[in-house]
Amino acid sequence: MPNNKLMEKIVSLAKRRGFVFASSEIYGGLNSCWDYGPLGVELKKNIQDFWWNEMTLRNDIVGLDSSILMHPRIWEASGHVDSFTDPMVDCRQCKARFKADDLPQDKMEKRQCPNCGTKDALTDARNFNLMFKTFMGPLEDDTSTTYLRPETAQGIYVNYLNVATVSRLKIPFGIAQVGKAFRNEITPGNFIFRTREFSQMEMQYFVKPGDDEKVFEEWKERRMDFYLKLGIREEKLRFKEHGPDELAHYAKTAWDIQYEFPFGWQELEGVHNRTDFDLKRHQEHSGKSLLYFDDVSKEKFLPYIIETSAGLNRTMLTVMLDAYWEDEEHKRIVLKLHPKLAPIKAVICPLVKKDGLPEIARQIENDLRPHFPVIYDQQSSIGKRYYRQDEAGTPYGITVDHQSLEDNTVTLRERDTLEQVRLPIPTLLDEINSRLKADWKP
Ligand code: ATP
Repeated sequence: MPNNKLMEKIVSLAKRRGFVFASSEIYGGLNSCWDYGPLGVELKKNIQDFWWNEMTLRNDIVGLDSSILMHPRIWEASGHVDSFTDPMVDCRQCKARFKADDLPQDKMEKRQCPNCGTKDALTDARNFNLMFKTFMGPLEDDTSTTYLRPETAQGIYVNYLNVATVSRLKIPFGIAQVGKAFRNEITPGNFIFRTREFSQMEMQYFVKPGDDEKVFEEWKERRMDFYLKLGIREEKLRFKEHGPDELAHYAKTAWDIQYEFPFGWQELEGVHNRTDFDLKRHQEHSGKSLLYFDDVSKEKFLPYIIETSAGLNRTMLTVMLDAYWEDEEHKRIVLKLHPKLAPIKAVICPLVKKDGLPEIARQIENDLRPHFPVIYDQQSSIGKRYYRQDEAGTPYGITVDHQSLEDNTVTLRERDTLEQVRLPIPTLLDEINSRLKADWKP
């Protein structure tokens, strides 16, 4: 399938099945803003839970939920006020806007617009700060200016001593957080890949200086493993190291985990060695000591921080793209989602709308629903019902037929292999639960 078509197909499937809608659609939409529909929220939540469990079902990592609005001086200390900028250029002719970094050298030299082709049309590059500014309280002046956080990390740094003390954590330890971040991106796009409002899943791991390089390597590997566990194909994932000219102002080493999107290899997650840069700066700007006291060695020091920073929405796009499968043989579209990620776990279908079959199917629905999301469907032919759910990524289909009346059994259909087994109704819950828990490979 040509790659550009794949994005169109995913956008269309996402809308058709209620994963993602354009935001403010009845007003013509709002550029790069998206709303998550019933299946989208479930999928996003399942990815988040998967990540959260990976991070916090360990004895050295705890969670935090810090606020989006924080003291504006945090962003001075972090370097975002001065350095969180992208150079942008505009085309005077067609008004298109570009990140200067994305423009090919020859176009920049000729000042030629890559959109309309006009020569000498591009403006000089101007630095544009990506933080969204807002005002706290009724006055709109400099003293009330604050920012929507552009990353969740800083909330962790300024709280790290509180968290360590109350949780009695000893170095090395980590703090995990999932939350919204906002960036006034110059070139948002590619559906939910790059948006101005998005969620990050970040874990900041605090280590003794000197241990940072070893721990960095461990987290790098663990984070790649996470995407494999989500069921993403190995050949579509790779590491990419930031060269010296690409390194962010805070980083000693930075590796991206990249996925091969239809529009090229792009970052999915950043694993960074941020050293003690952030804590040092917060210490300087706040005047408060952020030194960690090691009660074994009796030393005081500023820990180094290994950051793993992933995008939730971007991971969801990756999961959907990677799972998309046109099954030519059976003329169906399937989202081969990891069963744990699937928004709905099972569809329950009476073969016909009569003879007492709907009642049995409703009973199964009621029995399963407290355990995981299920859906009841009696509309149209059984084939069509299954195909609808294949597109939604529902891994299991349960059909109640006339034999069910006689022996209390049903068929259980598996989405990808189309394998069907006949099972006693009372064993369904255990069977589906054990399949959901099993290791899964695409
Ligand atoms: P990019 O260069 O792709 O904009 P970045 O290097 O600025 O990303 P980081 O600051 O390392 O990204 O952010 C960590 C993660 O947060 C990214 O890997 C990505 O998954 C997610 N992310 C960052 N910016 C956006 C955005 N505008 N929309 C959606 N997700 C984003």
